[in-house]
Amino acid sequence: MSERKGSISVQTADIFPIIKKWLYSEHDIFIRELVANATDAITKRSTLGRTRNVEVPAGRVEIKVDDKLNTITITDNGLGMTESEVEKYIAQLAFSGAEEFVKKMEQNGEKNNDIIGKFGLGFYSAFMVANKVEVDSLSMEDGAKATKWICEGDTDYTFTESSKTDVGTTITLHIAEDSKEFLSEFKLSTTLKNHCDFMPYPIVLINVNEKLEEGKELTQQQINDTNPIWKKDPSELKDEDYKNFYQKMFPMDGDPLFWIHLKVDHPFTLDGVLFFPKFNPTKPMTDRNIRLYCKQVFVSDNVKNIMPDFLGLLKGTVDSVDIPLNVSRSSLQGDPNISKISNYIVKKVAEALKKLWIKDRPRYEEIWEDIHLFIKYGCVSDPKFDELMRERVLFKNSAGKFMTLTEYKESIPAEYKEKLGDKVIYFEKEKSDNSLRKELLSVGVQTLEVDDHIDPHFMQHAETKKVGEHNVQFTSVDAEIANILESENTNEEDMKIKDLFISILAPKKEGEEAKMDDTEIEIAKIKNSHSPAYFKVDEQMKRFSKMAQSMGGGMSFPIKKTLVVNPLNPLVRNALKIHESGKNEALVEKLCKHVEDMATISSEGLKAEQKDLFIERTQSLMQELTSIALQ
Ligand code: ADP
Ligand code: MG
Repeated sequence: MSERKGSISVQTADIFPIIKKWLYSEHDIFIRELVANATDAITKRSTLGRTRNVEVPAGRVEIKVDDKLNTITITDNGLGMTESEVEKYIAQLAFSGAEEFVKKMEQNGEKNNDIIGKFGLGFYSAFMVANKVEVDSLSMEDGAKATKWICEGDTDYTFTESSKTDVGTTITLHIAEDSKEFLSEFKLSTTLKNHCDFMPYPIVLINVNEKLEEGKELTQQQINDTNPIWKKDPSELKDEDYKNFYQKMFPMDGDPLFWIHLKVDHPFTLDGVLFFPKFNPTKPMTDRNIRLYCKQVFVSDNVKNIMPDFLGLLKGTVDSVDIPLNVSRSSLQGDPNISKISNYIVKKVAEALKKLWIKDRPRYEEIWEDIHLFIKYGCVSDPKFDELMRERVLFKNSAGKFMTLTEYKESIPAEYKEKLGDKVIYFEKEKSDNSLRKELLSVGVQTLEVDDHIDPHFMQHAETKKVGEHNVQFTSVDAEIANILESENTNEEDMKIKDLFISILAPKKEGEEAKMDDTEIEIAKIKNSHSPAYFKVDEQMKRFSKMAQSMGGGMSFPIKKTLVVNPLNPLVRNALKIHESGKNEALVEKLCKHVEDMATISSEGLKAEQKDLFIERTQSLMQELTSIALQ
């Protein structure tokens, strides 16, 4: 048997350990690299076949796993290599076959940049899992002789004769002790599915040690879908096709809300489908929802720096040859293609939303709860998206109807327009005073519901911009009501009411300093108001406290609260009368405390210890009332 020895010409003899440790942090990437090489070789063969007008067989990649011999073999029926090509392309690390191939193509009068391998040191990733690698190859060129190259993971290698008879290449990996997990059929098939799910030729996995009944053939498990939806023409696809595809990619998700089919040829090429998922608050949010492909070869599910963060809430696939691979993340940021791609996607997403808005506002409202987080997050974090979407952000009003901020401003009755100015009155879901909302509503002023999570950020953001024609200034319903509703000047009698409430609810001891969370008492004569009192909170302080809370991991910050008592309320006036009569001071005290508790109930609810007192007091008040009724 003729043998020929050689040595890989690299400067550093340590190249293999470096590859093993540094080049790819995830070892299972070897399978992607080798299968990608196999599919490249098939594409090259069919391209050459076309230019030479000869027929070539349908491409196919076969992966055999043998857990007895500890080998994985990857066989393709691509263009194959001669001994000198193996030496050049495989053995001489510094060479990239792509360059040679393009030259060859140019000689044949055809330019095809499309097939340039994208993965640099791809082949050598085999040594991440194998301590010995064999390459068996028969070139498609007339009269070529099959060749076998063996390398045991150092810089020396051997060429020997090969028994290969079909054109193509077989890579045999002798799996190293620490990588034996890949010999499990299950592990190998999940790894393949993860990295090769949409490669353009059938990829078939065969377990050669599968236990068989007599006369049966080994199972051939096809891993991939060779014709993914994003490569197809959108006009040929039905809703069902998108839904099925989504189901396959994200099995636990239910149907997507809607989707965008991306297709662009210039100034870069990109295909993809982005889905708007149904929002699921019980599922942790991940930023690995978008899978990136290059010519149907899976590249990464980490799209950080390639797409703006907020798009990570979408799910789907993006396929582009113009995204540089295997380069450090920091160099991606400066890449002009990346920012072009990113801008394009942002624009497409906003356009799709705009289209839905124009064509079917009810549907837009129907899915608003699911998409609002993503849209507001997008507005806050991406100026381009913000420009396109800010005016399509909806809020639910206290009647449960959705409105934009512009619609809100326009809904304000003329007589309140000036009073309100830039103000947008909001209330916090399940928190702010329901009775105050009702009072505003009774004069035709709507209030908008906000949440605790994304809305504070969006509000802050919108306040620095215009929404349509309007400047907006968000103000909580309990910060503003007395200024909006009609109120009268106070007189001496009103001051007596104030003093009474202070003496009962906030008695100051001599020499004591006021604390941050002490309750202050104010009076405001609000006409037509049904509540005897409400709590007023300073808007700025409220936001500051919220921010401290969200940053400091739930640390709460005392907020100064002011109890605003309404002297026009009959209950309040009666309390003063009873006090002045000197007849029943105990009852006056109960009434004042009750007024405060009712304000607390409608603003944020009673704490446990307040609750007990409230119930006790209610009972005794009712008792008093019933005995009076019986007199
Ligand atoms: P790249 O794919 O980026 O060129 P690789 O290290 O993955 O880099 O492969 C180096 C070269 O080896 C390829 O360009 C190709 O010429 C050759 N090669 C690798 N695998 C095969 C194969 N299965 N069939 C034919 N040629 C191959
Ligand atoms: Mg490669």
